[in-house]
Order: sequence, then C-alpha cells, then structure tokens
Amino acid sequence: MRYGLISDIHGNLEALEAVLETLAKEGVDAYLCMGDIVGYGANPKECIKKVRSIEPKVLIAGNHEWGTLGLLELDYFSELARQAVIWTKGILNADELEYLGSFKLLAADKKLTLVHGSLEEPEEFNYVFDSNDAGGTFRLLKTQLCFVGHSHVPGIFYFDGKVPGAINDVKAKIGPGKKYVINIGSIGQPRDGDPRASFAIYDEDKKTVEIKRVAYDVEKAQTKILAAGLPKRLASRLAEGR
Ligand code: ZN
Repeated sequence: MRYGLISDIHGNLEALEAVLETLAKEGVDAYLCMGDIVGYGANPKECIKKVRSIEPKVLIAGNHEWGTLGLLELDYFSELARQAVIWTKGILNADELEYLGSFKLLAADKKLTLVHGSLEEPEEFNYVFDSNDAGGTFRLLKTQLCFVGHSHVPGIFYFDGKVPGAINDVKAKIGPGKKYVINIGSIGQPRDGDPRASFAIYDEDKKTVEIKRVAYDVEKAQTKILAAGLPKRLASRLAEGR
C-alpha cells in the first residue's frame, strides 16, 4: 500500500492540483489528509470539492476547520488567520460546513496515528517544529508512525527510547525499534523558506517515507487572494515560502 499524505492546503487550489497530479502519477493507493483544507487561500470551496473527489481514507480536522465551524474561539487565531477564518466562514455553504464537521481530531489504527498538531490534547493544536516538540507525542504514541501537519514546516523525527532526534533528510527508512513522527509540511502555505508545495508518500511495503515538493503557479494563487480582498500578506508570503 502506498499512501499520498496531504495537509494544510489552506484554500490554495493551484498548489493542491499540482500535488494531486504528482501523486496520481506516482500511483498512490489511498490518501490521508491531516487537516486545514481551508483558511488563508481564496479557493476553500474548490479545495473541499477536490479533496472530496479523491475520497481520503482518513480526514483529520485542523484548527482552521475548527475555527470555521465555531469550535475554536476567534481569539485563538493570529490577526491574519482570524481575518481568513471570518472570510472563509462567510463563503462556505451548509453542506461544505457539514463535510468539515465530519473530520476527526485524531485517528489511529494498529499501524498509523494521524493528528493535525501534536498528540497531547489534539484540540489544543500544539506545534511540532522540532524533535523536542515531538517528545510529548512520542510519549503518547502507541503506533510506530505518526503523521502530523500544522507547523507548515516539514520534518522527520524519531525516538529510539532515549532522546527524540531529527533525520536531516527528506526520506527515511522506517527501522525496527524506533517510532517516527513525520510532519509533512504544508501544501498551500509552506513556511520553511521553500515556496513549493510540501506533501509526502508513505510506502507501507518498502517501509519508506518521503517528503516531496512540487512547484505550482504561485502568481495565480496570489492574484486570487488579492481579488478576494483577503490580507495582502497572505499573497506575498506564498512567494517567500514564509
Ligand atoms: Zn495550517
């Protein structure tokens, strides 16, 4: 089984289409989505439609879904995010909101755990930026692998029972005796200085995880953000990957 892992799309249709084209070419068997389909970008409706069409096996709720549904106070969000949440809430219909409301905060089977932020209080949406942040998740993790998003900064972290560490590579072989927390980064608003959309492929048989990047039409996404009257910074940051 090969999984296409997607997260933090944030209403960026151009980025999502580029990623899904790549994953289709790669021939993945199923999709897993770690949340934040909406918020920041100008095409939340189109991104919901697109994600629906690929029928992800699991859909996790992000803080932007929760904000849009009114499950998180607007005070939780930064000023830019708050404006985006209010705008997004205003254009989604009842059916789209119901779809977002069907997402889970946490999903786990015998092999995989999926959460938007970290495993400690998933409803608090804590960030996993580095191996230190991943410590709490490793303590609670019952499966060998955990996929997360939220920080918009990709990273592969492992725990061998001593101290959590980071793998300085985009690819990892899943070895025995170790647990892994993999932050797959953001499709629609990367913040690691690389403007290309970030996503991942997990190959269950080969026991490999690879974080991948794909370029997309940033200018088109920016033009739509400005035309929608969303904050200008939400457009400019896409070119910087910040
Ligand atoms: Zn996000």
